[in-house]
Amino acid sequence: MKRAIYPGSFDPVTLGHLDIIKRAAAMFDELIVCVSVNSSKHTGLFHPKERVELLRRVTEGISNVRVDCWDGLVAEYARRNQARVLVKGLRAVSDYESEIQMAMLNTKLYPRLDTIFLYTRPKYAYLSSTVVKEMARYGSDLSDFVPRQIIEDVEKKVRGTQERM
Ligand code: ADP
Repeated sequence: MKRAIYPGSFDPVTLGHLDIIKRAAAMFDELIVCVSVNSSKHTGLFHPKERVELLRRVTEGISNVRVDCWDGLVAEYARRNQARVLVKGLRAVSDYESEIQMAMLNTKLYPRLDTIFLYTRPKYAYLSSTVVKEMARYGSDLSDFVPRQIIEDVEKKVRGTQERM
């Protein structure tokens, strides 16, 4: 069984993430999309459990994708799940620098683990969860940024946080 893990914050999942998920799922028997909670980054828009729920909703048609959440080291998660491949998406050379460092660190922590990089489709190269949140705050149309099934959730969540300000 060839199992890979696609870790990230997914706060929220974007069309760029979903494109990487579909392409990686076609390469492996199973792809685990793992909401990895960075202990130094507590301030997300969505709670990790909500991010998992949104990811499950947008991937429910892809039978070999599983969604999970983990607040420890990704290398440890991979070891526990007997996965030898991490999938990462690259948008620009600037992503590469930190990603290559993480990849080397993860192999140091778990020598059987390899990281593969999928380049973004150019139409998603500008897209990040941060861009989505920014656009939502200004009431922009989100249909080019996030899967349609979650547009309302993002709009509602951002409106909720604005009302509290
Ligand atoms: P971000 O908040 O920047 O979207 P995440 O931690 O949620 O970052 O991203 C998880 C993974 O998905 C990372 O490997 C990141 O490089 C990749 N990724 C994010 N957005 C895109 C995109 N538009 N195209 C390809 N890969 C992407």
